[in-house]
Amino acid sequence: MAKLYFHYSTMNAGKSTILLQASHNYRERGMETLLLTARLDTRAGPGRIASRIGIGEPAQTFGPADDLFDIIESRLARGPCACAFIDEAQFLTRDQVWQLARAVDDLNVPVMCYGLRVDFRGDLFPGSAALLALADEMREVRTICHCGRKATMVVRMGPDGQPAKDGAQVQIGGNETYLSLCRRHWREAMGDG
Ligand SMILES: [Zn+2]
Repeated sequence: MAKLYFHYSTMNAGKSTILLQASHNYRERGMETLLLTARLDTRAGPGRIASRIGIGEPAQTFGPADDLFDIIESRLARGPCACAFIDEAQFLTRDQVWQLARAVDDLNVPVMCYGLRVDFRGDLFPGSAALLALADEMREVRTICHCGRKATMVVRMGPDGQPAKDGAQVQIGGNETYLSLCRRHWREAMGDG
């Protein structure tokens, strides 16, 4: 039976690298895959999943208005597809996570989602909340804080080098950088130490 998977982590844990490796594993066995990423992510240029270690693949993009069941169904109509991979899955809407769940159940295609669990304020992204509720299997992609503990939180550093305390959940094209921290050091950075 196909399943809906959610691989979650904080920033810079290597999710895209793991996604690309998993897709490659299908392709080197002669199976095709569908790669999708959020349209608002322009870090790697339009329609591309890229990892920080330098590998990348072209990908179809989705916006909040796209029906992902339809996209997967029309991909299957063109020929066999062993697995659908979704990068930046935190940007899925709740409806789109249900569309993916329907694709798994009714089209019998595995769907592997990769995304961030929480934003810089410590709140779940909508796509991640829906995936935590609906996924058949969840796996944490681990990375570490500067202290060596597991990093589960992220701070957004503004252009002034100070952690942002508020602002939009999604900010594209700014100069800010993100730092992954354990909860204790996140509280310290956010002034709740
Ligand atoms: Zn720490």
